[in-house]
Amino acid sequence: MELIHSGKVRDVYADGDDLILVASDRVSVYDVVLPTPIPDKGKILTRLSLWWFERLADIIPNHVISATDVPDEWRGRAIRCRRLTMLPVEWIARGYLTGLGLKEYEKNGTVSGVTLPPGLVEASKLPEPILTPTTKAAEGHDEFITYADVAEQIGADTAARLRDVTLEVYRRGAELAAERGIIIADTKLEFGRAPDGSLVLADEVLTPDSSRFWPADEYQPGRPQHSLDKQFVRDWSSTLDWDRTPPGPEIPQEIVDATRARYIDVYERLTGERWDG
Ligand code: ATP
Ligand code: MG
Repeated sequence: MELIHSGKVRDVYADGDDLILVASDRVSVYDVVLPTPIPDKGKILTRLSLWWFERLADIIPNHVISATDVPDEWRGRAIRCRRLTMLPVEWIARGYLTGLGLKEYEKNGTVSGVTLPPGLVEASKLPEPILTPTTKAAEGHDEFITYADVAEQIGADTAARLRDVTLEVYRRGAELAAERGIIIADTKLEFGRAPDGSLVLADEVLTPDSSRFWPADEYQPGRPQHSLDKQFVRDWSSTLDWDRTPPGPEIPQEIVDATRARYIDVYERLTGERWDG
């Protein structure tokens, strides 16, 4: 099989008209892949994505063809999927203000051109979920763009449909997670176009790499939240004297273990299933 792309986390192979998306155990922070893997992370992301894709299929079709019709060595961490032409946008929905969204708000009072009320603080719940798209940069960091820019780039109809879908997926996900004691603060989606022109949900969905998950019972605005996602590794890396350029630092064993435990915790809480490897 031909390796057509090696992303920060996933390797993408072409198999005829299909793609095989293989999720590794790599973890990236600030767009730098760290040298230490998190055992089982790729399998957890894959299984959780599959679980969500199924529960979102009435909102939008997804790229999954099969999770079993993949080479043996990758079973569990690979998905056979439709090869799409990806749209150059990261579709981010936010129900709470944190991370780069908060930084942007503190500078301008807006995120991706959306004006927010004054007085919001770290982890504030927004009056309603907002769409804050970013570019999907091939090199360097993604940047916030306004919805108007997106509409100009990909067409008003496509933009409007994907805005609605993104917010709907976020709402559905957040509601389901809330029943299980988890706040989904924000999430990032990617879409592509099938050869027949239809829009398809691609990549991964509502995972701890693409979303922020907070335990609801510990939620308290005004301070950083206990995070069950990649933020935990970012927070640890921020305690180091590291300039966020490659090479990234080795992750100590206790941080590896605590990260793995968080990924498993979120998987088990959301799906209600035991993680059995
Ligand atoms: P980059 O592409 O900048 O390296 P990344 O590090 O986020 O981004 P990964 O998430 O590790 O990359 O790899 C997955 C890649 O496959 C992404 O570029 C994603 O946009 C792309 N992708 C996901 N699903 C599909 C699909 N169905 N068809 C085509 N490309 C896809
Ligand atoms: Mg990615």
